[in-house]
Amino acid sequence: MSEAPLKLFNSLTRQPQEFVPVHEGEARVYTCGPTVYNYPHIGNMRAYVFADVLGRTLSWKGYKLTHVINITDVGHLTDDGDAGEDKMEKMAAEKAQSIWDIAQHYTEAYWADVKALNIREPAKWSVATDYIDEMLEFAKSIADKHCYECETGLYFDTTTVEDYGRLARAVTEDGEGRIDAVEGKRNAADFAIWRKTPPGEKRQMEWDSPWGKGAPGWHLECSVMGEKLLGFPFDIHTGGIDHREIHHPNEIAQNQAFCGCGGLSDARNSGANIWMHNNFLVERSGKMSKSSGEFLRVQLLIDKGYHPLAYRMMCLQAHYRSELEFSWDGLGAALTRLKRIVMQVERLADAPSGGATDHPKFAPMMSAFADAMSDDLNTPVALTALEDALAVKKVDASIKRAVIEHMDTVLGLGLFVLARKDLRVRPKDAQMMEAEIEAELIRRKEARANKDFATSDAIRDDLAEKGVDVMDGDPLGWEWKLS
Ligand code: AMP
Ligand code: ZN
Repeated sequence: MSEAPLKLFNSLTRQPQEFVPVHEGEARVYTCGPTVYNYPHIGNMRAYVFADVLGRTLSWKGYKLTHVINITDVGHLTDDGDAGEDKMEKMAAEKAQSIWDIAQHYTEAYWADVKALNIREPAKWSVATDYIDEMLEFAKSIADKHCYECETGLYFDTTTVEDYGRLARAVTEDGEGRIDAVEGKRNAADFAIWRKTPPGEKRQMEWDSPWGKGAPGWHLECSVMGEKLLGFPFDIHTGGIDHREIHHPNEIAQNQAFCGCGGLSDARNSGANIWMHNNFLVERSGKMSKSSGEFLRVQLLIDKGYHPLAYRMMCLQAHYRSELEFSWDGLGAALTRLKRIVMQVERLADAPSGGATDHPKFAPMMSAFADAMSDDLNTPVALTALEDALAVKKVDASIKRAVIEHMDTVLGLGLFVLARKDLRVRPKDAQMMEAEIEAELIRRKEARANKDFATSDAIRDDLAEKGVDVMDGDPLGWEWKLS
């Protein structure tokens, strides 16, 4: 464990701050999870790679981690303000399927991406619809003092808590221009706690409540599951930067109401000590939009032949608070970097695992790594410390192995599980199977050994026609790749 104190950037204060746990020796983290109406795009997955790196860092620092990620299967409207339809109801209607089937299918797809990206399982996946009774209790407890009823539902009056909107830094009416007006709302920023089913309509998901049949507002679930599973205040709440604007300010307002807490100059009144947000993955051509047909999913990267951990590498190469631009070239570069690392790690494969890491030759890299991770999770710098450690010469392989293993528990690249052959670009629609390619290459090697260059060239051309580039003299020693 490193001596450098862990500093994390708190979106609430817009300052880095030292992590001091609420409960000694523990770290309790809540991450806003996916709305399971569709596949997650790779931008969504950046949010979970970030939360995973945070969790791994807390574990590495020696804290007992309790991480909760929720699964939103009700309440998230097509607009983060209170306009539009429930995303789940809309998709279920489009596909003529039950919401439960939709939720199950996309939850499993999300879990597959979690696994592919080496994201550790949290202590609990909490599903919103499992907490409807608790949401009703929570809403009842704040209804009298903080809410009012109008035709479409029960609304939270944002003027009843101190410092509403501080997290977003947007409390002016201007800032709230992005929130659609709903008839009967007292203030533009007020939001639904409970959405009544409109008269004459039947929703697939609806429950009885003191305010009529309906469904909870989206923000309610995270307040309730955070409180039930982690207790207020817990340590860290995470999400993508869009949540800093509406979802989290509203969660905070509910939490203040529930606790009877004062203003936000004391962060604990918000329900969590630290609020952390990852910046966006952006893509200029619109391929991240879920309405664009073939959008950028982890599975699409895999189908195009890229190992999913190349995408994890791409995320780690940027600081989580920087915007990250996606491009296929960028992904290719991340893959090459990962390959280079894996090739060096393969040389340590026979060394025993789990040795000591305190060899003087590695001290500068170990401390650079620890400093970087402790400095608001500076993964780009931590990666260079790992590469520097790999480059150390004339040391016992078991020590080097221990150092790299240590660093990889935090970065989560699975370096000792990956083999370089796993990282070959291998598109789904490739014409040749790997065994066939290898057999042809052996035949070519023999031809060359016999100085039969005509045959050797013919094999090479034939392979090229089938989309296999033979890479003689490739500095990575790659031998071939699918083009
Ligand atoms: P959603 O399923 O829409 O609730 O989003 C899941 C998570 O992805 C949330 O934490 C969002 O803030 C985050 N998110 C959405 N779009 C992006 C993006 N382009 N880059 C990074 N994170 C994103
Ligand atoms: Zn949430």
